[in-house]
Amino acid sequence: MNEPIPFLDVVGVNSDVREELDIAWKAVLQHGRFVGGPEVGMFEEQFASYCEASECVGVGNGTDALELILTALSIGAGDEVIVPANTFAATAEAVCSAGARPRFVDVEPGTLLIDPDAADAAVNSRTAAIVGVHLFGQMIDVPRVAAVARRHSLALLEDAAQAHGARFAGRRAGSVGTAAAFSFYPGKNLGALGDAGAVVTHDRSVADRVRRLANHGSAPGNRHVHRERGRNSRLDSIQAAALSAKLPMLDDDNRRRSALMEAYAALLPASCAPVAVSPEAQSAHHLAVVRTAQRERAVSALDSAGIGWGVHYPVPCHLQPAFSAFREQLPTVEKAAEQILSLPISPTLGQADVARICEALRGVTS
Ligand SMILES: *Cc1c(COP(=O)(O)O)cnc(C)c1O
Repeated sequence: MNEPIPFLDVVGVNSDVREELDIAWKAVLQHGRFVGGPEVGMFEEQFASYCEASECVGVGNGTDALELILTALSIGAGDEVIVPANTFAATAEAVCSAGARPRFVDVEPGTLLIDPDAADAAVNSRTAAIVGVHLFGQMIDVPRVAAVARRHSLALLEDAAQAHGARFAGRRAGSVGTAAAFSFYPGKNLGALGDAGAVVTHDRSVADRVRRLANHGSAPGNRHVHRERGRNSRLDSIQAAALSAKLPMLDDDNRRRSALMEAYAALLPASCAPVAVSPEAQSAHHLAVVRTAQRERAVSALDSAGIGWGVHYPVPCHLQPAFSAFREQLPTVEKAAEQILSLPISPTLGQADVARICEALRGVTS
């Protein structure tokens, strides 16, 4: 049998920058400022500029980034926040942790991203924000969702955990909403060597409040004065150094993902159709998601060929036990959840790997 193809090869992803990582690690060990070292500010500046936004605050992880944005905007108890049901549980968790109530809405049948009309219909007097989740690497339909937010005076949060470097109509993920949450979990397009995240925004006052909340509510310049009750969610110096070492590769990695996706589109059998990408979107292709009516047969073919796969996500958020208080009937996402299948798309893969994967699928699903 051929070499197995892993769903994601995190060791391989980091091996290209091994030398830079070693240098960065040693520098932090040398100066000893593991928290709040100069690496943090440096990465924040680089990432804000990469996202074509003005502010970036490094935080502990992507879930905290979402929660901190909501709290910084004073969204909490008594408020509702519109969340697409097709997302990782963290999006809805953050809304609950901030004290607000998630209001799940359905997605568009082609892209499986938030349906702007469904979001519009879900607005009521308690609605405070919409979370646009740029899922699978593709940004939401920014003009349409932003128009809904504007019409009802709502904040628009970007959950950009899967969309580092993506664009919609030329605009970068992280630059289109009130504020954006990024995750640098090791498997994301830009991954740290552990948990890490960031808030990106054009709004200086949101950035300042996130920074304060994430550091025990301390006033900048006087850490013994606690302006408000905060918490601890900071980006470590070591992680910031690793992220600065990897950021210059992100565009190349995303181009590699894009080439793999083109190969998939050309070689997949008709019974496995990639999820649609809007002509205005430049996806970061975090995940290669296809739809198939024969998922069980497809995954057993992949298993026997030694090919990794995933499902993102098999149970939509509104049907998760954890969110049983927020049930809805959302037919588009419920149907999609039975058919979606994520194929390997790590930048470490080559065209030959994609050809092998498509060959394995051709046997069973035609
Ligand atoms: C990964 C992810 C998160 C959470 O990020 P963490 O850093 O793991 O907390 C949130 N939303 C989406 C869509 C994600 O993929």
